Amino acid sequence: MLKSSFHTHSHFDDGTCDLEDYVLSALEKDFGVLGFSAHAPVLFDSDWHMKQDDLDEYVGQAESLREKYRDRIEIYIGLEADYYKGCVDWRNKKGIDYTIGAIHVAQDPKSGKYHSFDGTRKDFDDILENIYDRDIRLLVAGYYGLVREMLMKMTPNIVAHLDVIRKNNQGGRYFDETEEWYRDEVLSTLEVVSLSQAILEINTGGIARGYTKEPYPSRWILEYCLDMDIPVMVNSDSHHPDNIDCCFDEVYEMLKGVGFKSQRILYRGEWKDVGL
Ligand SMILES: [Zn+2]
Ligand SMILES: [Zn+2]
Repeated sequence: MLKSSFHTHSHFDDGTCDLEDYVLSALEKDFGVLGFSAHAPVLFDSDWHMKQDDLDEYVGQAESLREKYRDRIEIYIGLEADYYKGCVDWRNKKGIDYTIGAIHVAQDPKSGKYHSFDGTRKDFDDILENIYDRDIRLLVAGYYGLVREMLMKMTPNIVAHLDVIRKNNQGGRYFDETEEWYRDEVLSTLEVVSLSQAILEINTGGIARGYTKEPYPSRWILEYCLDMDIPVMVNSDSHHPDNIDCCFDEVYEMLKGVGFKSQRILYRGEWKDVGL
């Protein structure tokens, strides 16, 4: 089968190593396709997004690697683009083949500061207290509301780690993921994913970094995706070349167990369903 990942971070943002190290790792692991997805530059202070001044160098390096390895692997150039009020629309920018749309932050209307949904536990407590009045249901509704708004206003090719707010919720510390109010938020978001025709990624990055035991999103969400004909794609969200295919064999098996026969990826210049 065709192995691929379109979600890769490097020294251009908060990952490690050069772009070429990821290509070499991908070749070693028999990938047919690799996509780079640096965190797109943002309009607020951040130490984990690519700097605007590095964007041309990022695209230039990726283009030369595409050329250098063109007989051995297909390389695509993407951005993991944050959606927030007033954000830059990176779709159709020169040199960019695709975007992965993500909600990582929300802005505190009082202070104007950005707080993270998927940072440390302390970050999570901060966003809960500062923006959502310590009400976890408000936070969950706020997060999924932003995902839906992104899908409607700036539809990306791929939706990043749909239920990443689970990251700090091990053992149901903040909420019970089986409760109806939570499932309703997820399901109404899936309706919008389906309408938008974006691809939902299955993201193993949280496993590689030790935050979760199962990928994002949870299996029950993938069962609904199958029912709703939402296309999926397996990505590693790797921040180190060694993790470029973290848990892929298990995830491919799990997807087949759910009933998926294919994943949708960029291949030979087009979005195509390729067999699992
Ligand atoms: Zn992300
Ligand atoms: Zn990422």
